[in-house]
Amino acid sequence: MKSAGQAIDPAAAKQTIFEYCKKRGALAVGVADLAVLEKIAPAGHRPSDLMPRVKSVISLGVGGQTQGTWQMPAKAMAYSGSTEVRAYKVAYGASFFIEQKFGVPSIYVPPDIDPEGGPRVPFQSLKLHAEIAGIGARSLAGDILLHPDFGFMYYASVFTELELEPDKPMEENPCPAPSCVSMYRSIGRTPCMKFCPAQCLDGEIDDQGRQKIMRYDMAKCAELTQEYEAVPKILAEAVKDEVRTHGAEGLLDPDRKMLWYKVSAGSGAWFAQCFECMRVCPIATKAPASDPILRTEAARAKG
Ligand code: SF4
Ligand code: SF4
Repeated sequence: MKSAGQAIDPAAAKQTIFEYCKKRGALAVGVADLAVLEKIAPAGHRPSDLMPRVKSVISLGVGGQTQGTWQMPAKAMAYSGSTEVRAYKVAYGASFFIEQKFGVPSIYVPPDIDPEGGPRVPFQSLKLHAEIAGIGARSLAGDILLHPDFGFMYYASVFTELELEPDKPMEENPCPAPSCVSMYRSIGRTPCMKFCPAQCLDGEIDDQGRQKIMRYDMAKCAELTQEYEAVPKILAEAVKDEVRTHGAEGLLDPDRKMLWYKVSAGSGAWFAQCFECMRVCPIATKAPASDPILRTEAARAKG
């Protein structure tokens, strides 16, 4: 650890932190421009609202699914498709690492919902941090971030009072992929739009093959994917039923019982239970380093 008054080399510190994150499983790490985040994020959700003396926002991404996972049926993929917890663990460890190594206050940014903001408002947009840090670009699939090499990742953030040089957002957006542009020119839709089971994606591609408009019906998507939102309704229906046995029967309905299973024993998650837009996305599934097989092949080819 650096002692008080001992100068920290910001470039060396950044490299040390990036190495720590990558060694523990991050594929991409970047530092977002704090001034840009403070300008774009709404009041109450700016980095300084969570950490008043924050100087740097570090964003990291871990790889999504294994190659084999994409073959699983949707109902099973909901349990094994997500690697977000790994991203959170790396960020959590990095916050401790920075304090220990450099003696500077740091926090793991909770990916959770702000209790004062309702069920769809997070404390911070981890997506915005990653986008400004240059490790993901917004796609036509409801703004899910995509990376040209690593495809679909899960993101986590660390705030620190250590001053680090910010990175820049990506210059090129990998979405839409050339094959998606061809499909759009022929049927007016891209694969993610066509195969979304809730039909909540829509958009336009311009003459240069770039995103023109992205439309995403978040409520429709949430109905299918964010099952925690259904729980209060189910309980309210059960309680208000005049015939008490009916209310109880409602809770014992097999579909509803699955919700209790998911939170108690299954994946432990009631959200993001759908991967269909990413299953058909050529960037998510075929980017050069999007899964462990492709990453190993790429590493071997490099020698
Ligand atoms: S997660 Fe599912 S419902 Fe939501 S946009 Fe993707 S395919 Fe559609
Ligand atoms: S399938 Fe993927 S690359 Fe193609 S338009 Fe949708 S999100 Fe973009």
